[in-house]
Amino acid sequence: MSHEHLIACHECDLLLRPPELEPGGVARCPRCGATLYKSAHRSQERALAFTVSAIILLMLANFFPIMALQVGGNQVSCTLTSAALMLYHEGMQELGILVLITTVIVPTAQMLIMLYVLLPLSLDYLPPRIPDMLRMLNMLRPWSMVEVFMLGILVSLTKLTAMATVIPGIALWSFAALMVLMTAAISAFNARHIWQLLPLENA
Ligand SMILES: [Zn+2]
Repeated sequence: MSHEHLIACHECDLLLRPPELEPGGVARCPRCGATLYKSAHRSQERALAFTVSAIILLMLANFFPIMALQVGGNQVSCTLTSAALMLYHEGMQELGILVLITTVIVPTAQMLIMLYVLLPLSLDYLPPRIPDMLRMLNMLRPWSMVEVFMLGILVSLTKLTAMATVIPGIALWSFAALMVLMTAAISAFNARHIWQLLPLENA
């Protein structure tokens, strides 16, 4: 048998040879009609554009204050990292570390890995260790919880407004946009297409 491998439909397990796609085309399972994969046409460029924008927003979200609280004449503001550190020093070490991992470290790692893979590919160059990078990206996915964090912030914001004047910071808006952009970047990222670009002994 040739090296051309078979793929299985994720819905009905039908084995089939991956059909060649026209630019912008969609491969569907002939038995159940499930979408198998989409053509990589321009999706890597889109993924790269979303990734670069997400990295810029990540920087804004980390360096600018998330919110400021005004109680009486005093105003306190905090950044994401200082909020996590505060949790840590207030005896909630585990929570502080978890917040830092799921909202700063993992999303940053995800976006940097995608940049590492996508930027050279857009210049027609295959960077080394792509398989490791793709595996790591898969492993990190469940640990990125920007949207959970956003929800938590919104809940606490509505509670805090009863006690103090809350001034949303630049980081908060960046976070909201980041949530959308990261989802867009990850869904445009076509790992299947990248695996196909690799020489066979790697895959
Ligand atoms: Zn099927």
